Amino acid sequence: MAKIVVIEDEADIRAVLEFNLADKGHKVAVAGTIAEGMRLVERQKPDLLILDLMLPDGSGLDLCRTIKQDAALRTTAVMMLTAKGEEIDRVVGFELGADDYVVKPFSVRELLLRVQAILRRGQPSEPEARTIQFGVLRIDREAHRVWAAEEPVELTALEFKLLVTLHDRKNRVQTRNALLSDVWGIDADITTRTVDTHVKRLREKLGPAGDYVETVRGVGYRFAPSPEEADPRRRGDDE
Ligand code: CA
Repeated sequence: MAKIVVIEDEADIRAVLEFNLADKGHKVAVAGTIAEGMRLVERQKPDLLILDLMLPDGSGLDLCRTIKQDAALRTTAVMMLTAKGEEIDRVVGFELGADDYVVKPFSVRELLLRVQAILRRGQPSEPEARTIQFGVLRIDREAHRVWAAEEPVELTALEFKLLVTLHDRKNRVQTRNALLSDVWGIDADITTRTVDTHVKRLREKLGPAGDYVETVRGVGYRFAPSPEEADPRRRGDDE
């Protein structure tokens, strides 16, 4: 069961979502405006916000940005609903931190499957596990040690933090700005190019495990969902 807030101004769609999500056992709260929805979000700190793009009192994209910049809502995933014909720039949406898009009219069954996928992703992978084994990569969180294909990899403290941050958000795209604020700290006097430089060096050091860190063109980076799905072609344009 997850806490889900739906902000959608079309009453029919709102009702369909409310009914079907509640039917799946989720705790659902709905709103028709940004103002009303924001009050729900602040109060409930939901696991997922399903957010319409065009709302009577503003843009869902602006609200998405606000939520993703709010440290208290860090764990809230955002699924954007966009009407056919509303051309939304996916890259802009991902830069703002949206986790998924669904285009209206949508199939309820498909939307529910995507909701489940987002909620699964949101759970930190093996939060208690001291040792992570992912394909040929092994990470010892406490000892700050890393092996690739059983060979020790010497990482700086920063590279280690970058690797663990990417791994723990497996299959979620991390923008350069998000990585800057989470790995380097928001006050760091550096540019997003720094992220690229460090990712490149990290990949090189990881050798055979370097493919697990994938480039999402124009957006940022993500850790492969599984070792089998790691795609060497996603190592990026930088090499
Ligand atoms: Ca709308």
